[in-house]
Amino acid sequence: MLQVLFGDPNEKKVTRYTGLVNQINALGTDIKGLSDKDLQDKTIDLTKKINKSSDFKAILPEAFALVREASFRVLGLRHFDVQLIGGMILHEGKIAEMKTGEGKTLVAILPAYLNSLSGLGVHVVTVNDYLAKRDSEWVGQVPKFLGLSVGLVQEGMTQQQRKDNYSKDITYTTNSELGFDYLRDNMAIMLQDIVQRPFNFCILDEVDSILIDEARTPLIISGAVDSREDKYNRANEISQLLERNIDYDVDEKARNVLLTDNGIIKSEQILNGQDLYDPTNPWAPYLLNAIKAKELFIKDVHYIVKDQEIIIVDEFTGRIMEGRRWSDGLHQSIEAKEYVPIQSETQTLASITYQNFFLLYPKLSGMTGTAKTEEAELDKIYSLEVITVPTHRPMSRKDLPDLIYKNQYAKWRSVADECLDMHTLGRPVLIGTTSVEKSELLSSLLKEYGIPHNLLNAKPENLKREAEIIAQAGRKGAVTIATNMAGRGTDILLGGNASYIARNTITSLLIKGASQNDLSKDQQLKKLFTFLYEKIDSSRITDKELEYKLAIACEKSFTEDRLVITLRAAYQVLVEKYDQLIELERQNVVSIGGLHVIGTERHESRRVDNQLRGRSGRQGDPGSSRFFLSLEDNLLRIFGGDRISNLMDALRVEDDVPIESQLLNNSLESAQKKVEAYYYDARKQLFDYDEVLNYQRQAIYSERRRVLESINLRDWVIQYAETTIFDIAQPSSNQNINRRDYYAQQLKKIEDLLGLPYSLDLDYFLSLSPLEAENFLSKQVRIAYDLKESQIELIEDGLMRELERSFLLQKIDSAWKEHLQSMNALRETIAWRGYGQKDPLIEYKNEAYILFTSMVTNIRHSVTYLIFRSQPILKV
Ligand code: ADP
Ligand code: MG
Repeated sequence: MLQVLFGDPNEKKVTRYTGLVNQINALGTDIKGLSDKDLQDKTIDLTKKINKSSDFKAILPEAFALVREASFRVLGLRHFDVQLIGGMILHEGKIAEMKTGEGKTLVAILPAYLNSLSGLGVHVVTVNDYLAKRDSEWVGQVPKFLGLSVGLVQEGMTQQQRKDNYSKDITYTTNSELGFDYLRDNMAIMLQDIVQRPFNFCILDEVDSILIDEARTPLIISGAVDSREDKYNRANEISQLLERNIDYDVDEKARNVLLTDNGIIKSEQILNGQDLYDPTNPWAPYLLNAIKAKELFIKDVHYIVKDQEIIIVDEFTGRIMEGRRWSDGLHQSIEAKEYVPIQSETQTLASITYQNFFLLYPKLSGMTGTAKTEEAELDKIYSLEVITVPTHRPMSRKDLPDLIYKNQYAKWRSVADECLDMHTLGRPVLIGTTSVEKSELLSSLLKEYGIPHNLLNAKPENLKREAEIIAQAGRKGAVTIATNMAGRGTDILLGGNASYIARNTITSLLIKGASQNDLSKDQQLKKLFTFLYEKIDSSRITDKELEYKLAIACEKSFTEDRLVITLRAAYQVLVEKYDQLIELERQNVVSIGGLHVIGTERHESRRVDNQLRGRSGRQGDPGSSRFFLSLEDNLLRIFGGDRISNLMDALRVEDDVPIESQLLNNSLESAQKKVEAYYYDARKQLFDYDEVLNYQRQAIYSERRRVLESINLRDWVIQYAETTIFDIAQPSSNQNINRRDYYAQQLKKIEDLLGLPYSLDLDYFLSLSPLEAENFLSKQVRIAYDLKESQIELIEDGLMRELERSFLLQKIDSAWKEHLQSMNALRETIAWRGYGQKDPLIEYKNEAYILFTSMVTNIRHSVTYLIFRSQPILKV
């Protein structure tokens, strides 16, 4: 009601951009008449303007008009007005909510081009390597055409490759490459090993996936330490002997377990009376993890076992997270449970959460189809405003009401029935599942029904195939089962995707050696391929090189390579051919209702439900979506409360009849809101706690960076030495000790440390005022330092400078590493301790501060000791 009275606030925000859109449209007419060269010269003009004034706003219309024209010339795609609006929102450092299929990839190059004119670099971040590569090769051509450089950072690249690519005007990469490079840069020993430039502007694609879904697991770089394999195995055995609700309780909501008194006594008996909480040899953490592994971590839902390794499956995306490990011994406990080799425990060397990482950018922006439901969180944590951009064409997808069944079995039957109906009609269906296990269950059910289908459970090595399957999921009668976000970022085109088919055909003919029968009908193709086969045979090109050339061929960028030119010609002939076939199929699929999306469980937030629904109804296409649920679904079981279980008992309906009940719908809504709130709190808490560490990380990293960048660290170390000596000369806190005795002792320590060739006069020192005493000590430090320096420089010129640098880095790194462990331990004790009225976060902050200052002191002291104690040996 209120909205009707005052107008939709979002609409108001969007209308603000109309003036600029008109300006860009007007400029378009002139720009259309310019030559390619003229367009490229404009980039130089604009760069000059930015160098002079940094007034991006003034040149925005011209820059956007240029990109739009270049995009049309290079890709054949001209930005729609709504895409211009999306680009402006990104330029302002906000989140543009644009539905799936609205062309966000193309939107990103508008602000990327504009902001890179400053020369400070723009990062465009996608959720996986495949998308980063695709986008840089595809839309990256536009800024290239306009004279800018475009880079790509991928997994497995060398340091030098990374550095080169980060130095480009626009760099495409993934959130994890970016984050790990940042952490590695801050562990670099030499300045030239640093690969990233200072951050400037970042555009996050699928921003909600990165800032919300992935925010739960921090990025960690770790090193191995010894593992207590025996303890994990023993704890696993014990956990199998303990019984739920008798020896321990399980809190599914908080994903936690607690030993009962009974359980403690029983375990201690099994351990021959050892104390579970013995501080020198504690069993409790091992046992609790073993019980968690037993009760809360289920094979093929939370993890899979592959080649004797436990690999995490992201609960909500179904994607497997190769290389990531659960922390604090949990991973080892699961290894023990599955009887696979227990890998060594690791020690964190560096870590950061995505939340804090992306806040390092002076300007951050993002785009996604689903952000509005998380508007409050994005605003509160990241200060990112969300603006919904209207769709280019009116949306015509029908979201049908949920069907709720009494039990799982009935639900899955109905899902299969619906698939059969759709398949018979010829409508493509996409079914989202929340786990590998469930996708396989449905797959076997569909096999029973004789429905041909594609099954996607997301493995990284299948990413590319995944994208291909998703791209074809809109073909007539196609049935595709996919774990939640499989193939995200790839558009489902009704009738199929001609470019994919064309590229695939070439790959299978040239690389996989498929038969050439298909070619015989088309003279032009036949000729092209005859040439290609000859060329490939004679030049002994590897498959990898060929794939690379094919990638270039599918772009439109300029090339002189004969092979690429021929590949491109073949590609274009094929695309045209398939386009005609697909157009017929498309019209057919449209006429029977488009893509139907089936959800098989409500997700942990409405946002994720919307992501799935959003696969259908792109660019005004017809389509529909429906969720099939059961009272046994996790969401209702865990968060539904007593109402649901009472309802279940009271219901006397047949299993296979969906339940219609307003009460049930309300419970469902409120359960989902509870889960949303629960996860929000968890993320907020992670954020609040990490913020403390974040300040400290910033302080240490910038100190470290200054060390790397300084040519001469002499003054730095002398200052460290002075504070160390002043610390030693602090008055004693012990009231009972005799002042004279105390200072005799301290001066002796100072003499030893500085290695002075004379002794300090106690009486003289005691006669000094505090300020005079400081001056006196400073002087001693400088004398000692000069002596040390001349002694060391005798061995080799410049050796002192090298020692200073290497000692500083060594000590900063080892102290920081230890500090990270202490902070971890602090987190844990804070969680265990009861605080009564006190706020644990404040306690945590206070204690963290004390830990940090003592770490800083420790660094100063140890560097000083190292410098004065070092006795380099004269090389003969
Ligand atoms: P999103 O990321 O928003 O889901 P994509 O960037 O993957 O969408 O683009 C979806 C499809 O829309 C692509 O096939 C692209 O070629 C097409 N597209 C994008 N912008 C335009 C445009 N201005 N004109 C025509 N087609 C477009
Ligand atoms: Mg996209």
